Amino acid sequence: MIAVDGPAASGKGTIAQALAAHFGLPHMDTGLLYRAVALNLWRWGGDPASEFEALRASDMLSIDPVDDELRSEPVSRIASSISAYPSVRTALLDRQRQFAGQPGGAVLDGRDIGTVIAPDATAKLFVTASAEVRAQRRVRELLERGMPAHYDDVLADIRARDERDTAREVAPLKPASDAIIFDTSNLDRDAAIAEAIRLVDGRLAHSHS
Ligand code: C5P
Repeated sequence: MIAVDGPAASGKGTIAQALAAHFGLPHMDTGLLYRAVALNLWRWGGDPASEFEALRASDMLSIDPVDDELRSEPVSRIASSISAYPSVRTALLDRQRQFAGQPGGAVLDGRDIGTVIAPDATAKLFVTASAEVRAQRRVRELLERGMPAHYDDVLADIRARDERDTAREVAPLKPASDAIIFDTSNLDRDAAIAEAIRLVDGRLAHSHS
């Protein structure tokens, strides 16, 4: 089982997908679960400041991963705030643990995979990059999708999300003690993927010996 954690726009999703393809494993983007709760809540006009309403929005969760709204800015902001509620995290725990525990293994990416969801993962990567580099990547991505993006706003938003994800009491964003810290600030996409495969290969080889 491979755990990939890291802050917003660090490249962890791209890396997790590439690892899954390379090792022939199923992949779960756990951020989508929190985004789906946020989208549910937003659609029925619930209040993100209410833990009770956020928990109701996590009931019977079905996710359409190609729904563009999952990645919109309001949904990102709501996802970041409702993910601090312990009851919401608990409601989403089982499906992540089941996915992680399937025979043959899996790749999960998120914030707390190596620390909470799968502390026994064979390989753990904590993918990071400077806030400036992550903001540049996010701006490029938004512009490519034809969405408006201003570097200063995106940078401020990334910093605010980092702060919320790191400061929350339940499952804060932090590397597991046995995670490999992987800084992608100076790597392009292909170089980051190649290096991630090399790092995980090293861990897997170690675990079989
Ligand atoms: O990774 P992504 O940006 O899609 O995640 C959306 C939000 O969900 C993040 O801001 C983070 O607060 C939360 N999240 C989390 N734990 C995870 C995955 C995502 O708290 N395992």
